[in-house]
Amino acid sequence: MEVQSLHLLTNIVQRIFVSIFSTIASFLLVALSHIRLYKPPPQHSDHHVIILDGSSMSLIRVPINVVIVFIKNKIPIIPYSDSAHRAHTALCMVCLEHIDGSHSIRELLSCDHVFHLECLDAWIDVGRVACPLCRSMLLPPKKLLSYSNSI
Ligand SMILES: [Zn+2]
Ligand SMILES: [Zn+2]
Repeated sequence: MEVQSLHLLTNIVQRIFVSIFSTIASFLLVALSHIRLYKPPPQHSDHHVIILDGSSMSLIRVPINVVIVFIKNKIPIIPYSDSAHRAHTALCMVCLEHIDGSHSIRELLSCDHVFHLECLDAWIDVGRVACPLCRSMLLPPKKLLSYSNSI
C-alpha cells in the first residue's frame, strides 16, 4: 500500500515537472519569436552591388548603403564654374534644368557628365550607383574594394 502511494506521489511530481518544463519551453518560444518580430527591418539589407575587382578579377558583393556613403564622401562637391567638364554640357539630364556656374555639382570620376548636386544625390539615395546618362559606375571598382576591406 505504501509503495503504491509513493508511486502515485512520484507520478504527480513527474507531471508537475513536465508541466513546468513545457510552460518554460513555450515561454521561451514566445520570447524567441518576439525577438525575431521586434528586430527592426534592416535598411537595404538585400540590396547589394556586384563589383568586379580589377586587380584580382573577382566579383565582390558590397551593401548598397556602404556604396552610397562612400560615393558621397569621395566625389568632390564643387561649383559648376570650377568644373573641368564645364564645356561639355550645361543641362542637367535629371531635372532638365540648366546648370549655372554658381550651382554646386559633384565632379564625377568615371565620366564627364554633369548634374546638379541635389539631383545626383537624390539619384544615389535610391540606390543607383551609376551615372544617369552613361551608366558607368560612379566610383572605380578598386576604390570600393579597398573600402569594403577596411570595414
Ligand atoms: Zn538637376
Ligand atoms: Zn556619365
